[in-house]
Amino acid sequence: MIVGDLKSLKDIASSIAGYKKVLVLGCGGCVTVCRSGGDAEAHDLAGRLNHPENFPGMPPELAVETIERQCENDLIKSYLKIPESTEAILSLACGAGVQIIADVFEPLPVLPALTTTFMGGADEPGVWREKCHGCGDCLLACTAGICPIALCAKHLLNGPCGGSRAGNCEVSGNIPCAWARIYTRLEKQGKLYLMDEFRAPRDWRKAGHKGPREHRRTGIELIYGEK
Ligand code: SF4
Ligand code: SF4
Repeated sequence: MIVGDLKSLKDIASSIAGYKKVLVLGCGGCVTVCRSGGDAEAHDLAGRLNHPENFPGMPPELAVETIERQCENDLIKSYLKIPESTEAILSLACGAGVQIIADVFEPLPVLPALTTTFMGGADEPGVWREKCHGCGDCLLACTAGICPIALCAKHLLNGPCGGSRAGNCEVSGNIPCAWARIYTRLEKQGKLYLMDEFRAPRDWRKAGHKGPREHRRTGIELIYGEK
């Protein structure tokens, strides 16, 4: 899932200062699961922005809505009706959601309340950690299900650097070395021979270095067309 963190109240307040009426818009997708941008957080944020301690001067009139996903253009067009005379939207979605909302309601200003931090998963209740960089050419089959691109500070593809010590990364003694973890798990799987396979330099164009990427599935337009 995509994990986001709420920006500082000061930054959020300053981004909506000057508008008379703002829609605070939660997203029911990933940011609900990671408890940063769902309906509860949207109401909580509106309540806090209405507090004089958090908003210098008079805050805008704040309406609160939540939509299932802010990252789907057709869903927004079908289901989201914004209150009359709304001057701006404060979106609690990830950066993708903010951009789709901004496209749909152009030229209405759409301000992000979150910073999108990473693609990750919950290792334990309440703890989400980064897991994937969306590199466009997944190699988890060779690395025992542990991603060296997201979890190795140097994104190394052919084993650890010289800084790996006692299972930890040279960046910090609190961070496991991704390649030490890969080695240990491959050993348990009886697949240590994979450590000997040379992985050639990657084509980083697949990771988005050639410009924004696109994913298409045929048949989707037809399904929607039949509705
Ligand atoms: S190898 Fe690429 S696609 Fe696979 S988990 Fe790592 S970054 Fe994500
Ligand atoms: S110590 Fe391990 S995780 Fe850290 S940069 Fe070196 S190989 Fe990567």
